[in-house]
Amino acid sequence: MARVRISKKEKERISNIIDALNREYGVEDRVFLDHETPWQLLIATILSAQCTDERVNQVTKVLFKKYPSLEDFAKADQKELEQDIYSTGFYKNKAKNIIAATQKLLSEYNGIVPKDIDKLTDLPGVGRKTANVIRGNIYKEPSIVVDTHVKRVSNRLGLTKEEDPVKIEFDLMRILPKEQWIPYNLQIITHGRSICSARKPKCEQCFLQEFCTYGKSAIKTDK
Ligand code: SF4
Repeated sequence: MARVRISKKEKERISNIIDALNREYGVEDRVFLDHETPWQLLIATILSAQCTDERVNQVTKVLFKKYPSLEDFAKADQKELEQDIYSTGFYKNKAKNIIAATQKLLSEYNGIVPKDIDKLTDLPGVGRKTANVIRGNIYKEPSIVVDTHVKRVSNRLGLTKEEDPVKIEFDLMRILPKEQWIPYNLQIITHGRSICSARKPKCEQCFLQEFCTYGKSAIKTDK
């Protein structure tokens, strides 16, 4: 990965953001999608595209009882699976991808979810976001998951100017210390849900305001 020159002032600002996030949210590991096995997390993450984690957890609670093994998903009837996951949206594509991905896991990886990013993204329906969820949560490999919260909040904080999730991921990997990658995901998702919402960020109540590009300009505009 190409090194980027960051000014001393910017380094200090990033370090202040990290310290504030660690203080406020801690650095312990959490996963928002309920699962008991790596392949269940893979399926839950495929279902989470354009859907809330809460809704996915409601669906998988029933789904993982109906299909208790990888083999059950691999031989599922697509129409029936579509109905089972209907409420998560994009159910036709998701059902098709879940069946194809579980078949590939069985035929090529002996039922084991791989750790390697290229092998993961080669599975149907698995992009870098899903692959990084698996790498970070299952294998504890430092990885950055660019979901809607990480995309929005990182832009507002001025840590990236990109809109493309892969470019954002690489920007964040360049400027954040590796040990912060997994905590950053969790902290920013929590922050995005509670304070820095898409429609109305609560900048005046935000502990990051003094270090935040958007937050500073929002306060100036109000004056
Ligand atoms: S100051 Fe505002 S824009 Fe910046 S992180 Fe906080 S809520 Fe979001």
